Amino acid sequence: MSVDAVTDLPENIFQLIFEKSPGSLLVKANPPYFTILAVSDSYLSITSSTREGIIGKGFFEAFPDDKVYIEENIRARHIFNKVIVTRQKIDVPNYRFDVINEKTKEKEIHFWSCGNTPIFGADNNVAYILNTVVDITEEVNAKEAALESESRLRLATDAAELATWDLDLETQTFVYSPRLAEIFGSPVCTDLSLIDIRSRINPDDMQNIVMKAYFEALVTGNYLYEVRVNWPNGSLHWVRTQGVVIKDEKKRPVRMLGTILDITESKRDEIRKNDFIAMASHELKTPLTSIKAYLQILAKKLSPLQDTFVTNALMKAGYQVNKMSDLIHGFLDLSKLESGKLQLQEQLFDINKLITDVIADINAVSVGNYIKFKYREPIFINADKEKIEQVISNFLSNAIKYSDKGSKIHIGSKKDESNLVVSVADEGIGIKLKDQEKLFQRFYRVESEKMKNISGFGIGLYLASEIILRHKGRIWVESDDNAGSTFYFSLPLPDVSK
Ligand code: ADP
Repeated sequence: MSVDAVTDLPENIFQLIFEKSPGSLLVKANPPYFTILAVSDSYLSITSSTREGIIGKGFFEAFPDDKVYIEENIRARHIFNKVIVTRQKIDVPNYRFDVINEKTKEKEIHFWSCGNTPIFGADNNVAYILNTVVDITEEVNAKEAALESESRLRLATDAAELATWDLDLETQTFVYSPRLAEIFGSPVCTDLSLIDIRSRINPDDMQNIVMKAYFEALVTGNYLYEVRVNWPNGSLHWVRTQGVVIKDEKKRPVRMLGTILDITESKRDEIRKNDFIAMASHELKTPLTSIKAYLQILAKKLSPLQDTFVTNALMKAGYQVNKMSDLIHGFLDLSKLESGKLQLQEQLFDINKLITDVIADINAVSVGNYIKFKYREPIFINADKEKIEQVISNFLSNAIKYSDKGSKIHIGSKKDESNLVVSVADEGIGIKLKDQEKLFQRFYRVESEKMKNISGFGIGLYLASEIILRHKGRIWVESDDNAGSTFYFSLPLPDVSK
């Protein structure tokens, strides 16, 4: 900047700048008056005053203390004196001082943050005080609203007996609500670390469920699992954890937060229900097995008669008995699965031979659908033969059940890289896209006009998917509504290099 440029400046330039600065007022350090020397436009508008009205007046004459709201230790008089004595800047970060709204002429609640800076004279004493104010009403209101909504949320979670938690994935800092300690068997508000909490989760569930859910959540963004918890007093409890993963702007997972609920009571009910189903199914199995045996003996004894009615009747009875037996086995498997007692008995066998046997069994008791499968060569897999038979049988009986009589069913089996893929394609009623992903859930059945007269419980595909998942395989469906469906499962082929 040249010397000319400086001399070009108007004489009162600093006064002009001061007057345009945000919320500033300069007083003389002459207690008790504190005469106002300069004021900015915005300070005037904030305080609904005029320059002529306040310049030259004492600060407390121009702005009497608000007796209702301002506490003694943040009153301007007290602070101005303190600035002179301490020679330090003194801030008042948040105080309430209501001002008159120019339009409505009514007093409005306002919150301010203010600073009081000493300005020293030639004698090195405080000669002036610069008072600056910023309107923080919006921030204060937003903070209050956030606090209120947090306390409302806390009331709601407490009422639902939920505990909330928040895990910082980088620092592993774990923050949770007081109820969490209670859910893990300690008095409410006990200070538990993440290690304490994890040590109370059943070790098998920690390994198989929690860790799996954790890594899945990092991909899907959602966290959900149910695990057993051993309380310090020795009792067994169940908890359900649900949460979401928060990602940063680079899409890296940074936080996980959610809720935990004690579901012990409903789990105990479920276990009782499962025990009942297991017991009832077991009791039904015995008489059914003997009915089946008697039907077979009858069929053998009566075959020389060559009576078409008798042959037909026995075949139909056999079909119904098989249907009932499948259902009972399904319920038994379901209860075994839910109580963690479903064990796999793996053996090496030819899947194509098994498919041929299942087709023969089905053809023996049901006529009407043409099942197409060509045995070409053996494909050996290492799996639980009985369970895989159950899956193929479920796919096939569904293909028959959900198709018109006389329609074709194609079964395929092939090697695909290191997997075996089996498919069962029908020309039946098909499945809408929205239902496809839910078919493998427990008790899920499609709701439609076409399904009205077809009975079932919606457990076959659930069991099939559990069986396949336990073999580390995959199960899925491709279908067009009205244009048939193809159900698939894939299983890893044995590693021949071992
Ligand atoms: P269920 O047949 O006893 O209801 P499943 O678990 O075997 O139980 O099947 C679940 C649901 O999936 C069925 O209720 C039906 O809505 C649908 N589904 C299964 N297989 C087929 C198929 N081949 N074609 C059309 N819908 C099917």
